[in-house]
Order: sequence, then C-alpha cells, then structure tokens
Amino acid sequence: MSSFNVAKFGGTSVANFEAMSRCAAIIENNPSTRLVVSSACSGVTNLLVELANGVQEQQQRSQILSQIAEIHEAVLGQLEDATNTAAEIYKILDTVTSLAEAASIQATDKLTDHLVACGELMSTHLLAQLMRERGIKAQRFDIRQVLRTDNTFGKAEPNVEQTAQLATQHLVPLCQEFVVITQGFIGSDELGNTTTLGRGGSDYSAALIAEAVKAEGLEIWTDVPGIYTTDPRIAEKASPIPEISFSEASEMANFGAKILHPSTLVPALRHDIPVFVGSSKEPEKGGTWIRHQVQSSPLFRALALRCNQTMVTLHSANMFHAYGFLAKVFEILAKHKVSVDLITTSEISVSLTLDQTGTSGGAPQLPSAAREELEALCTVEVEHNLCLVALIGNNMSESRGYAKQVFGTLEDFNLRMICYGASPHNLCFLLHESVSRQAIQKLHQELFEK
Ligand code: ASP
Ligand code: MG
Repeated sequence: MSSFNVAKFGGTSVANFEAMSRCAAIIENNPSTRLVVSSACSGVTNLLVELANGVQEQQQRSQILSQIAEIHEAVLGQLEDATNTAAEIYKILDTVTSLAEAASIQATDKLTDHLVACGELMSTHLLAQLMRERGIKAQRFDIRQVLRTDNTFGKAEPNVEQTAQLATQHLVPLCQEFVVITQGFIGSDELGNTTTLGRGGSDYSAALIAEAVKAEGLEIWTDVPGIYTTDPRIAEKASPIPEISFSEASEMANFGAKILHPSTLVPALRHDIPVFVGSSKEPEKGGTWIRHQVQSSPLFRALALRCNQTMVTLHSANMFHAYGFLAKVFEILAKHKVSVDLITTSEISVSLTLDQTGTSGGAPQLPSAAREELEALCTVEVEHNLCLVALIGNNMSESRGYAKQVFGTLEDFNLRMICYGASPHNLCFLLHESVSRQAIQKLHQELFEK
C-alpha cells in the first residue's frame, strides 16, 4: 500500500445520521484512509456505564435501555437498507439487556467492560452500512480479534507485539480490499474476554491500531478544530495551534486538555506517525498537526485544566532522616495499582495526586485497602475538589524570570501543590475548583494575549 491513513471519529462525530455522513465525506476525501476507528454514538457509553454500575429498578433500567435503542434506531431509520444492520443492532441490544440485568444483581469490572463495549460494537455497524450506501467499499471489523490486552478490566494494558502480529494477519489484508470500520476503546484478553482501555480510550485505540498496521498518518476527528492555547469555553481569546510537538501535545493530553486521551501519543511517537486533530463538523477549518519536528518552540504553548483531582498527603515523623519511606509508600500504591500523577515532598511529608483515566470516570479514589496499609505507615489525608492547572511550553527548566510572571499573575490565589523544574515542558499546580477557571483566564491573558 502506498500511503496508509487511519481516521478516528469520536462520539460527537458519530452522534447521528448527519454526523456520520460528515465522517463519510471526510473519509471519501482522503483516498489514503483505509481504516476507520469509531467511538460509540455520543452519550451511549455514559448510559451503558450507568447500567453497568447496576440499576436495581426494572423500570429505570428499561428507560435507559430505550434511550440507547432510540439513538441507534434514529440512524437505522435514515438508512436505505437497514435490514441486516438492524438485526445486528438488536442482537447487541439484547446482550445489553441481559448484561444490565446481571449487573443489577452483581456489578463487576469484567461485566462492565463487556457491557460498555456494546456502544462501539453498535456504532460501527451503522457507520459501515452508511458508507456502503454512499458507494464506498466498506467492511466492519471486530477489533477484539486484533487488539490484545491484559485483563485489567476498566483500564486494560495493550500487548503491542501481539496486536501487531494479529493486525498483520487479519487486518492489513482486509484494508487492501476495503475501507475497514472498526471499534475504538475495546479489545480482548487472551481468553477472549472483552476489555476496555478506559474512558475516552478510543483515541488510544486508534493510535495503537495505526501503529499495528504501520500506518503513515493518523487523523483524530473530534468536535473542536484542533488543539487550542486553552479551552475556548474558559478563555474566549484562546487560539488554535497549527503545529505542536509530540512532547508538548503529550503534556497537554496528560494534563487534561480533553482533546486526546493521555496515552494516545505514545504509540504515535514510537512509530513516528504524524497525528492530525480536527473537527468533523468543520473540517474546512483545519486543525492541529502533532509531529516530531516543528517550526517553532515557544516558551509558553498552552494552558490545560484538569478538575476532579484527588490529593493524598502522607505525614510521618519517621521519614525524618530515614531512608526507604517513599519506597514503601510506592510499593503499597503499586500493589494496589494506584497510578500517581504529581508528587511533591518535604522532610516529613509527601503529597501526591491520583491518576484518573479508568472507565468509572469522576474523581479517583484511594482504594480503602491501600489506605489501610498506608495508615500503618503514616497519617493519611485525602482532599477533593481540587483542579490542576498546567502551563505547557518549551525549555522551561532553562529559562529565567517566568516563574515570577506566572506566580505574580496569581498572587491573589491560594495555590496548593506546585510542581516546577522536573519537566522542561511544564509547570503545574493545584488550586480549589471554585477559582480554577478564573486562574486560567488571568494566566491566559497575561501569557498569551499580550
Ligand atoms: N466511548 C468511550 C467513551 O465514551 C470511548 C471513547 O469515546 O473514546 O469513553
Ligand atoms: Mg470520546
């Protein structure tokens, strides 16, 4: 194949018939696009998560089920020949019904993954049929045959080598003949159980699949025309960034610029696949290219905001002049699979924030078993309602004077934790959620609008 492009469409991009038709036009527009990765129709995953958490009342369960059915039926109603597709959709809806019932008796992570995967399994049937009706030689493919993961349900880890092998075997030949439509977000473990990569994981899927098929390009189509200097809903003068490096974009994704799932760029970086981010609603507006080499590397590139932060502070007098305390702490966290984001330490205490990319969403919790073990070692304090602000840029650890500019702008704010100096690409801090937007606005004005 001369040039192989993978296009990924997010939930809002495949929300209904019109949105899916826009995706089809984007796919038609780039003859190199041989593989399409799709999210569930907008809102569907949330409804499925609700069911997976266990809805006791039969009536409420049926109500959610009808909502899910309606979203898909609306698209079926606009297809020319919906017969086969409808049969497939209803089969999956039956599965959803029985799994939801099972979850109301006992919810488990394994069941949750099976249930929430149904969103992507349905949307791809619709998109494939819609494309065929436009005259594209399209075929739907169940990515669980290829995307191999471990069995950490809710946030499975991909097995990159096996995935590449299976893709070469089953997926690449198919892409030579068809435009293949497949699911983001989901995979399967060695036993064939359905797994998911965590909420918002379809970007990551797309990158993993692009890597596995050795694609030359990856387009991520979402509902915003690229990456902005900050969320334009917070600072209205935020401006689009035409080109950004992998490192800066990874920092942004990590720090909650909700454009990309944080892990997305890892496979793209590994295989040096340029990534384009654009809006399927307004493709003509262009978007952001994420590449290895970029023309400019400004000191300040963007501001990201991530709310729902959980901060854990551990105090221990034994830490004073002792060694091994942090090792013990991290051993406990690792044992309970608690992923840590930021960390600051003082002589007798350490504060850290918890990573939050699992399928459940919301503020991450410190598992009670981990808390108990930590309490045997030190006092444990957990704080919520915090937001993380990250300033992203270049050569920050080698530049002078900007800390004064940043913190001077924020002199009226109470900052909780500050991380500065470890990364050349970011400076970040926590503050209370009630003032976080205001902090972003002030900083954006000072650093990006002057
Ligand atoms: N449908 C999944 C979610 O809403 C995965 C994704 O859209 O990326 O989290
Ligand atoms: Mg999504």
